[in-house]
Amino acid sequence: MQLTPNFTLAELTASSTARRLGLDNTPPPETVVRLQELADMLQRIRRHLGVPMVITSGYRAPAVNKAVGGVTSSDHQQGSAADFVAPRFGTPAEIARSLAPHVSVLGIGQLIYEHVGGKAWVHVSTRIPVKPANRVITITSRGTQLGIQDG
Ligand SMILES: [Zn+2]
Repeated sequence: MQLTPNFTLAELTASSTARRLGLDNTPPPETVVRLQELADMLQRIRRHLGVPMVITSGYRAPAVNKAVGGVTSSDHQQGSAADFVAPRFGTPAEIARSLAPHVSVLGIGQLIYEHVGGKAWVHVSTRIPVKPANRVITITSRGTQLGIQDG
């Protein structure tokens, strides 16, 4: 199902972990509504970046989320979050720095630059965190920092 010009339901629910472990990653109807909102946000980000985005993780059914070690409060489990890279734009840090000043206008609830275990990606959620300071953060193996911190 095409959710927006550049994003499909299939790419927001694809999970190599689910496939490998034989887990069902089909979202329930109420989650599909949130995935539409997520796709709308991703489309605004796509227009801002001007290049294709590769979604590395979107919706995670509870069992899939558990298998990847995600926290139970994960916005991925709610269908509200996606991880992505966009190599034609730049590194995940460069993408996050480009998006950070525009979270409000792009309707990004939370923007996280994640750099863990030698891998880096951008996490975006439609949900605004309870603590406003957590809206734009960096997560590395050393912990969580406010803002986009690279290095
Ligand atoms: Zn994520």
